[in-house]
Amino acid sequence: MIVRVTLEIALRQEFDYLVPEALADRVEIGTRVKVPFGHREVMGCVTAVVETSEHKNLRSISRVIGTQSLVTPKVLRIARWIAEYYCCAPETALKSVLPEAVRREKDGWKEQLHVTPLTPPEPAAKLTKRQQEIVDLLRQRGEMPLQQFAELAETTAETVRRLEDKGYLRIAQKTMERDPYANEQIVPTQQLILSAEQKVALDAIIGALAQCAAGLKPAVPSSPTFAPPSRAQESAFFNTVKTGGGGEVRQGFRRDGGNTFLLHGVTGSGKTEVYLQAIARALEMGKGAIVLVPEISLTPQTVERFKARFSSGPHQTQVAVLHSHLSAGERHDEWHKIRKGRARIVIGARSAIFAPVDPLGLIIVDEEHEHSYKQEEAPRYNARDVAVVRGSAEDAVVVLGSATPSLESYHNAKKGKYRLLELPHRADNAKMPIVRIVDMRQTAKKQKDQTVLSPQLKEAILQRLEKKEQVMLFLNRRGYATSLQCPLCGYIAQCPNCSVSLTYHRAEQKLCCHICRHEAAAPTVCPEKTCRNPAIRFAGLGTEKVESTLARLFPHARISRMDSDTLKRKDDFRRILGDFRTGKIDILVGTQMIAKGLHFPNVTLVGIIHADLGLHIPDFRAGERTFQLLTQVAGRAGRGDVEGEVWVQAFTPFHPSIQYARKHDFLGFYEQEIEFREQLRYPPFSRIALLTFRGRNEEKVEFTANHFRKELDGLLTDFPDLTISGPAPAPLAKAEKNYRFQIMLRVGQMSRLSKRLNEFLQKAQLPDDVLMSIDVDPVNLQ
Ligand code: ADP
Ligand code: ZN
Repeated sequence: MIVRVTLEIALRQEFDYLVPEALADRVEIGTRVKVPFGHREVMGCVTAVVETSEHKNLRSISRVIGTQSLVTPKVLRIARWIAEYYCCAPETALKSVLPEAVRREKDGWKEQLHVTPLTPPEPAAKLTKRQQEIVDLLRQRGEMPLQQFAELAETTAETVRRLEDKGYLRIAQKTMERDPYANEQIVPTQQLILSAEQKVALDAIIGALAQCAAGLKPAVPSSPTFAPPSRAQESAFFNTVKTGGGGEVRQGFRRDGGNTFLLHGVTGSGKTEVYLQAIARALEMGKGAIVLVPEISLTPQTVERFKARFSSGPHQTQVAVLHSHLSAGERHDEWHKIRKGRARIVIGARSAIFAPVDPLGLIIVDEEHEHSYKQEEAPRYNARDVAVVRGSAEDAVVVLGSATPSLESYHNAKKGKYRLLELPHRADNAKMPIVRIVDMRQTAKKQKDQTVLSPQLKEAILQRLEKKEQVMLFLNRRGYATSLQCPLCGYIAQCPNCSVSLTYHRAEQKLCCHICRHEAAAPTVCPEKTCRNPAIRFAGLGTEKVESTLARLFPHARISRMDSDTLKRKDDFRRILGDFRTGKIDILVGTQMIAKGLHFPNVTLVGIIHADLGLHIPDFRAGERTFQLLTQVAGRAGRGDVEGEVWVQAFTPFHPSIQYARKHDFLGFYEQEIEFREQLRYPPFSRIALLTFRGRNEEKVEFTANHFRKELDGLLTDFPDLTISGPAPAPLAKAEKNYRFQIMLRVGQMSRLSKRLNEFLQKAQLPDDVLMSIDVDPVNLQ
């Protein structure tokens, strides 16, 4: 038996090894192994079982690690697809699908002393009243960790041990599962009666689930460019992978997404209830589910909704939670819970798409337009797109949900690649909030100072405070002022390492760079030698200034700010949201953190301080992003009984992104935006690969980029629809002392191009001090 192994050391290559007879039945795709490599032993993962190898004198694997492969063969195929499509090394892709905590050689179970109640042997030893109480409590609660029990019983471990001597209980080491939500009280919920719209959506999803379960192909025709592989081809992939360069291994994934739905439902339309009931049906069919939510909205509130529905009743199962704040131990346990099938539902951020749920029936990607699904380091995959690929590979139904779908997904739905489901009304008949726009150019003319709040917004806040209702104010920029400027000589405080100006943080009296974190003391006079003007000014505002302005205007209101400056400790996020929910805060100011998926019935007013902040940046998605953000923020208002109100302050109030958001008109926005994309041949009318070169020496970086451009021109002659632009300085021309240049490639279909780029990159030589990264389907063009 010969296996192909991806090693945990970066080599951009896989290696063949023999499997000794004695280990043969413990090795399959996904098994972690220890193998000899040069003079040492390294960890690796079996990625294929092959019949022959072109290499002679193969060495044998030395050991098998762990009892069960942690990654399912199906997920492993996804890792391969990622390596190929996103142009990264196989070991890089593998590291993403297997988190560090489960990759370690030692298995990470935690042993702990547990107490178990026993019936004492006759004649039972006599107990004191206190001892009897402790024994009764243990019988009532059942087995539990010793430490926890001692605390609960308000006694010491010593006292409990004495009861063991008397035969009333047993204390023993046991493996325990760390449950990050152990201390939360969960109140079970029942299925709601669906509205007619919700029912139509759910029925469509259930229909697809049933078809998948029956092995039928979906009714939607698949596009000819992504013809589905036959079953024979699929299995051929596993059994007889051709030897030689990794390039010969072809993926057979359909990319048509015939099982994929786009659930377009306005904020509060009850999408989550549809997800919950669809999951229940998947469980009934014996299949599991993965729910992806953006990291930022993976709040206890969201998790609780899922746990509450499946904590008891006919669909009872554990719900595993995966996110970046788990300790390594917690992550290890959650992962095993899934692999062993005890948790059939996984809810998590980006990387949860690789959870070893098997069989997988349903994948839900909530807020599918969110850019946080894209990983901004290699492998630069987009979990939403991986979800569609995985769904297709495992015959699972995929539901992409959003109030503001990405242009790409909506376009796919219109073309019939995805099936469109719509929930145009709020579930509980709550009205959509009224959105009013303030033209800040008018306000600015009347007021001398830089205006934070228009008179209209100020008045609206006052009224809501009087009625004891809550207010959220939103500004997508932290700090106090975004730049320090001298009105006399024109000096602007710039970061010495990056091509951005420094932001003033008043609480710390510091100038900070938001790119490299460079810090400097804030000067009191203009630092230019010839100037020394004491009237140096701060321009542009951030959340810190909004907060201080509010404190001045509304001295009796309780105000809190939420941005990455105020969230220093792990629990800050929970704590601030908890205080807001329980009414201990009147006004919450924040960055995009407060825009997402939060649900506070008493919030009746939402203010957007500077709506056009993100509009005028060099990114073709700037308009789309602004529309999405405004719609999401506005959706926070009026989720209870009282109708909500939204005030949008803008300097370009007639911009389509603002106007369509005001009218809650997604379709209108889509129609005009898609036209612009088509004219300029931006996604969804093309796919982009972005090469970024960076290094300390500007000329050298530019020279290298130019050289690559020439190479690419010569190499990619057989792509008739390919456009190459650049090299040009990146919008962020310098970051952390590195100069940055970009080459952008646009093509109709990416998979063939990325294969070629991959081959090219394997051979490409870069000078020592120039680095290059490649980003396929980038969301960040900076
Ligand atoms: P979305 O996920 O689309 O933002 P939610 O699922 O959070 O919307 O629903 C918004 C509110 O409406 C929630 O309080 C939810 O409990 C309620 N809701 C959803 N569906 C129904 C229904 N069929 N009947 C009554 N209330 C519902
Ligand atoms: Zn900097």
